[in-house]
Amino acid sequence: VFQGLADRLQQTFSKLKRKGKLTEADVKEAMREVRLALLEADVNFKIVKQFIDKVKERAVGQEVLNSLTPGQQVIKLVNEELTELMGGTQSKLAISSSPPTIIMMVGLQGAGKTTTSGKLANHLKKQNRRPLLVACDIYRPAAIKQLQVLGEQLDIPVFNMGDKNSPVNIAKAAVEHAKHHGNDYVIIDTAGRLHIDEKLMDELVAVRDNVSPDEILLVVDAMTGQDAVNVAESFNEQLSLSGVVLTKLDGDTRGGAALSVKSVTGCPIKFAGMGEKLDALEPFHPDRMASRILGMGDVLSLIEKAQTNIDEEKAKELEKKMRNADFTFDDFLDQMEQVRNMGPLDQVLGMMPGANKIKGLKNMQVDEKQLTHVEAIIKSMTKEEKQKPEIINASRRKRIAAGSGTQVQEVNRLLKQFSDMKKMMKQFTGSQKGKGKKKFKL
Ligand code: GDP
Ligand code: MG
Repeated sequence: VFQGLADRLQQTFSKLKRKGKLTEADVKEAMREVRLALLEADVNFKIVKQFIDKVKERAVGQEVLNSLTPGQQVIKLVNEELTELMGGTQSKLAISSSPPTIIMMVGLQGAGKTTTSGKLANHLKKQNRRPLLVACDIYRPAAIKQLQVLGEQLDIPVFNMGDKNSPVNIAKAAVEHAKHHGNDYVIIDTAGRLHIDEKLMDELVAVRDNVSPDEILLVVDAMTGQDAVNVAESFNEQLSLSGVVLTKLDGDTRGGAALSVKSVTGCPIKFAGMGEKLDALEPFHPDRMASRILGMGDVLSLIEKAQTNIDEEKAKELEKKMRNADFTFDDFLDQMEQVRNMGPLDQVLGMMPGANKIKGLKNMQVDEKQLTHVEAIIKSMTKEEKQKPEIINASRRKRIAAGSGTQVQEVNRLLKQFSDMKKMMKQFTGSQKGKGKKKFKL
């Protein structure tokens, strides 16, 4: 998806990531590149301007978390704003309080209405729903047949009255049929035209007014870029859409539509079509899409985790202790728990930037069992032992091993590692001055 855009942004950000400190010029340059990338992806220029202004505004004078580099912080901002641009949170399908829930599919010819109707029915069926597909395209030759074939493949009933009845009558009859046959969803596949015209709109308005759909979903072809946004605008004016389905996001789309539709029309994107197959429909998650575009979903979730799990105050206190070398087993345990809160260790490591490029890391398993042992050993120490490990003699070691259900060798190994670690800390922290929070400006 969005290969061009993703490539450009990723290039820009990999430059940022490599830097520890950012100058104003670095960030300015990065923002310039983001702006160009968005314009090239066919995002409306007004939206691009708003977007860049917002990111800049937020970045100015922003405090940088100790756990993030300034580069990461900028990436995080861009990601958050991209997510917001595409609607913020996932927008789910409406459900009628008195079934059936009626979903009307509209859009231009070839956008993917019929295919998406089938995909959506399939999606609902997998959730143990009983959808009914309704053939209301009475104009395009073989349109009814197309829907019937889909229904057969999916084992989902298709309601049709041939092409001699009006779409309004077919839709009304279909809703009655659904009520009598226990179908909790009615999906109405309507006709399209090559261009928006009055006759098409009048007919769609008539269907809408007669069956009062819970959802009017506009199906748009993402490949058409800005045109998709214009189409969405005029359909929305006439029909008051409840949502948009973007199709053909699997193709070589530049992404402009996905990034602009919500912000131009106010209509949320509810689903994305990712291929011709009938299971290639995904609920649209703005946050995941943004990460995909930035090509750094994993890095982003790592950043989030670091933020929520590492208490800054605690981190500072710890740093002080390390500098004074009065780091104890209690602190060690604390530290371990913080890291573990981030999730299984191998997952956390797997999310590190560039981890996928390190050979062998994929197969590496962090031994959770070993960590549990370490924890048990520390918990079997007395308060005094935790503060002053040097008093742990042979008989104490035996007692600790027995108490924690481990071997004396394991206790020995941990004590040795701990003392080595303290020596190292002394070396590292002795020379380093305290690093305060950094600020950067645009
Ligand atoms: P309609 O005229 O709006 O009903 O459009 P159709 O459902 O008949 O689809 C038109 C063409 O687009 C068909 O060849 C579909 O297979 C194709 N199509 C629909 N959705 C997608 C999608 O998400 N990805 C791809 N690659 N093709 C799609
Ligand atoms: Mg069709």
